This record gives sequence, C-alpha cells and structure tokens, in this order.
Amino acid sequence: MTNIRSIAIPPLTADLERVLIDADTIQRRVIEMANQINHDYAGITEPLVLVGILKGSFIFLADLCRKLTVPHVVDFIAVSSYGKGSTSTGNVRLVMDTRENLEKHHVLIVEDILDTGYTLDYLVRNLKARGTRSVNTAVLLEKPDRHKVEVHLQYVGFTIPDVWVVGYGLDYGEQYRTLPYIAEMKIPG
Ligand code: 5GP
Ligand code: MG
Repeated sequence: MTNIRSIAIPPLTADLERVLIDADTIQRRVIEMANQINHDYAGITEPLVLVGILKGSFIFLADLCRKLTVPHVVDFIAVSSYGKGSTSTGNVRLVMDTRENLEKHHVLIVEDILDTGYTLDYLVRNLKARGTRSVNTAVLLEKPDRHKVEVHLQYVGFTIPDVWVVGYGLDYGEQYRTLPYIAEMKIPG
C-alpha cells in the first residue's frame, strides 16, 4: 500500500525561482476561508452556487468546497480576454456559461488570482445583472500593485507581490498547474 506521506513533492525546476506559498500553508488558509464562508452563509435556505472560473480555479475550488458545511452546488464559467500575452486587456469575453440558471441564487465566484481586476469586475457585473440574490467573490491570490479597476473581494487567501506565479491551478502555457504549492516563475527572456 502506498503511504501518502511518501509521495514526493515535485521539486522546483529550472524555470521556477522559489516556492512562494507551500502546500500546508495553502491548505490551512483554504480551511480558514471555508470557515468564514460557512459562518457568513449559515442559515441559507437555497444552496450557494460556487462559480469557478476555468481553468485556474479548479484546484482551489475543489479544496474549498470540500470544507464547506453550508449547502452548495458547483458550477463553472470560462472567460478570455482579447489580446495575447500575460496581461489582461480589459476586453473580457464569456466563452462558456454556467449550467445553472443563477436567477434568485446566492453566488460565490471562485477565482485563482486577482491581477488587473478586469476579469472579476466583468463577471461580478454580468452575474449581478441576472437577477441573482447576491454575488460575492473568493480569490486565492491578489496582486495589489496591479489593480486597474476596483473589485470588492469578500474572501482573499494571500496577498502576493507582482510576480508571475504557477501551481495549485495556475499555469504558464498550461504547464505547472498541478504543483501542490505556489511558485514564482523566473521571468522569461
Ligand atoms: P485580471 O483580469 O484580474 O487581470 O486577470 C486575472 C487572470 O489573469 C487570472 O484569472 C489568471 O488567469 C491570470 N493571471 C494573472 N496573474 C497571474 C499569475 O501570476 N500567474 C498565472 N498563472 N495567471 C495569472
Ligand atoms: Mg484565470
């Protein structure tokens, strides 16, 4: 039988500068965030709809929802921002909508990272316009130096410096998403 404690943590590769947030620290913080959400939504009569933004939020969402004791359902949405490169342009476009009709539901948008804020600003406004009962946001990471628009965040995991991070759902060219920790990338070029 495999002892789960013996599963090796993938080492840093040459492209990664350092581990910014280790796996245990992430797990402890996710539990704290879930406890806060359980507290804030205690007594809701309809299930809370967790809307994960694909793809980056899928691991955070998976860990977070399994610590929730309030009734909830899981859904996903996908967006893209026009323009190439690693910086949001502000032209956010919905590329996949939720399955559920969100009207009259309490919604919690679950996102990996708030950078410029364009993505969440767009989605909060889009989902509010659907006659939802409430729209709140839970983000694992926030880069405060980068905000272009103000987005009110109810739940924030960690505030990080303006560096490109990967792991725990976050990618660089689809790589590194499944690392259990969050690492800083070496700046390419
Ligand atoms: P915003 O619209 O807030 O600028 O963009 C947020 C999106 O940009 C996130 O959902 C994520 O996809 C991407 N992003 C921003 N910073 C990083 C980062 O450091 N690493 C990764 N992997 N994605 C990031
Ligand atoms: Mg994203």
